[in-house]
Amino acid sequence: MSIITAVDVIPFTFEVPNLSLGAHRAMGVSNLQYDKGGRLQVMRYAVRIATDDGLEGHYVTHWVGTHAALGQTIMLAPHLLGRNPEHRELIYDDLKRELRAYDHMGHGPLDIALWDLVGRKYGMSVATMLGAYKERLRTYASTHHGQDAPGGLDSVEAFGDYARACREQGFAGFKIHGWHDGDKRREAAVVLKVREAVGDDMEIMVDPGCELRTWADALYVGRACDEADCFWYEDPYRDSSVSVEGQKMLRAKLKTPLLVSEHIRGPEQKASFALAGGCDMIHTDPEYDLGITGTMKIAHMAEAIGMDIQVHACGPAHRACVAAIRNTHFYELALVGPNMPNLVPPVYTCGYSDEASAVGQDGCVPVPNGPGLGVAYDWEFIRKNATAVHEYR
Ligand SMILES: [Mg+2]
Repeated sequence: MSIITAVDVIPFTFEVPNLSLGAHRAMGVSNLQYDKGGRLQVMRYAVRIATDDGLEGHYVTHWVGTHAALGQTIMLAPHLLGRNPEHRELIYDDLKRELRAYDHMGHGPLDIALWDLVGRKYGMSVATMLGAYKERLRTYASTHHGQDAPGGLDSVEAFGDYARACREQGFAGFKIHGWHDGDKRREAAVVLKVREAVGDDMEIMVDPGCELRTWADALYVGRACDEADCFWYEDPYRDSSVSVEGQKMLRAKLKTPLLVSEHIRGPEQKASFALAGGCDMIHTDPEYDLGITGTMKIAHMAEAIGMDIQVHACGPAHRACVAAIRNTHFYELALVGPNMPNLVPPVYTCGYSDEASAVGQDGCVPVPNGPGLGVAYDWEFIRKNATAVHEYR
């Protein structure tokens, strides 16, 4: 039996060219813009779990690389010491209780690293451990947000042009993240423009990222989604996508399926939201929703009630989960834009990539099939750019 003897949590920074935060400055989730010559400093963190018999499990965060999530991961890390990494359900149960007063965002990276460790121990990919269903994943282009400064996605026409380019590259779908000012007319116009640009042979999804100020604005843009025959309408307005009643009222008036639940956490809350009628499809993310363990519970819960699920965002853990879920449609390549890099950390030494160029001509990305997550990290880069090292022994 292996026993966990060390856990390291290492926040680090890196620079991304041609992106900046624009006027709002604060680094939130995806409030970025194209800025020629700009250099955006981004923070992510790495997790390393080691055992007494020389095994290791790793994970480097993508979208959970925030200070808020890091605080929770540091809070949980010592709880892994002395435990058997194969007892992932028991550890999940204990970490879930430990974070009961918080939003659980720091749990996922530790759970994912445990799956990586056990996969390496037995020489098996996480996708295979989960019961793989497919080996290549249909991928959609998930855009950076619209911007008012010149460049990037600075107009409805720019979105239309970029959608056409993505279709030509082979992407199976295109998701619009509109502007941050929540102007319902511009949001509706961009939906119709993208449909006009790509014709009928590409799925279109719309995610205002909760920027529309009112329910009535959400209805207005939702009617454009209906007109454009969108595949789903996601997190439209300032209930921050937690109001079952608000979403039920939208569902009663719109044809387009609502994909809502990105901002409620874990299987119990997603089940309650779905059963109360708050959405047509469930959203989950192994970084957000208590790891691979939590995400697969949510996927199976949705399957049991006949509902489809989408996995939010990208990464090796996300690919393993999507590979093992029947009731899902796409892998989300988030976030991309014209000449705009994705914000994933440059830490892969194995060729793994979540840049737009990673999508094949079949519109798919592969599922890594090496042991564990099937990726290798550049620990020299991570340590060289570390802003702190939290070690637990
Ligand atoms: Mg979203």
